[in-house]
Amino acid sequence: MEAGSWSFLGKVALVTGGSRGIGRAVVLRLAELGADVAVNYTSDAAAAGQVVAAAGALGRRAVAVKADVSSADEVRRMAADVEEALGPIDVLVNNAGITRDGLFVRMPEADWDAVLDVNLKGAFLASKAVARGMMKRRSGSIVNLSSVVGRRGNAGQANYAAAKAGLIGLTKSLARELAPRQIRVNAVAPGYIETDMTAALADEAKAAIYTSTPLSRLGRPEDVADAVAFLAGDAAAFVTGVVLPVDGGMGI
Ligand code: NAP
Repeated sequence: MEAGSWSFLGKVALVTGGSRGIGRAVVLRLAELGADVAVNYTSDAAAAGQVVAAAGALGRRAVAVKADVSSADEVRRMAADVEEALGPIDVLVNNAGITRDGLFVRMPEADWDAVLDVNLKGAFLASKAVARGMMKRRSGSIVNLSSVVGRRGNAGQANYAAAKAGLIGLTKSLARELAPRQIRVNAVAPGYIETDMTAALADEAKAAIYTSTPLSRLGRPEDVADAVAFLAGDAAAFVTGVVLPVDGGMGI
């Protein structure tokens, strides 16, 4: 599937947290559509290596880059390494994310900081690292991974919901600021997706998700990857500043 405005042939995409879950599915979808891909990770080099091999098997150039997205120095180095290996970055997907769930009154400051640093500041730093080049080239696209809880809040996830709501503000502000240079910035807001992040959910929690999701299932990473690919590419050439729910109707 490489036709017309859905093609990413000749484009370079950097996906933060691309080694597992949704990020992995995004990397592989973009590679299927023709993109050369950079797979960022922090700890699991073997998982990142498998994604690189899978993208290579699709005929794409692919590299793994280790960097903590909450570190400005590491993010700058990551962007430079990717551009040296693959060329200018056309597409950035800010996907890296963590949770440190707990009730607000008992939430340690360190858990607040860790979640805001990775999920929100990470997107700020990575966007900054690629924006200048995109502005010079007057082209580029950024997609941020928000969440249904960033739109609705969630008991036990004050830090995560604040970060994901913050990403919506970042998305809309950057969309306005970068539009004059033809750079589009959008977000997806997934519901509950089957990945390592949600694997620990208790059966009752999963049952509650089914009943509050009109389509009556958890999402798959590929469901999100298709939405990201749409927003990242030329099929969405006239779309900027949107937050696309991919939640089976949970947020209706
Ligand atoms: P996941 O399976 O836990 O994978 C997280 C990915 O992020 C891994 O590749 C991990 O790499 C990377 N990562 C974590 N901390 C990082 C850091 N400091 N710097 C760089 N990379 C880092 O998560 P997921 O479920 O696929 O979620 C992906 C994104 O979608 C997140 O932003 C999440 O908040 C969002 N989301 C998920 C759901 C859901 O239901 N799963 C719903 C809505 C939104 P390492 O393994 O190397 O650490």
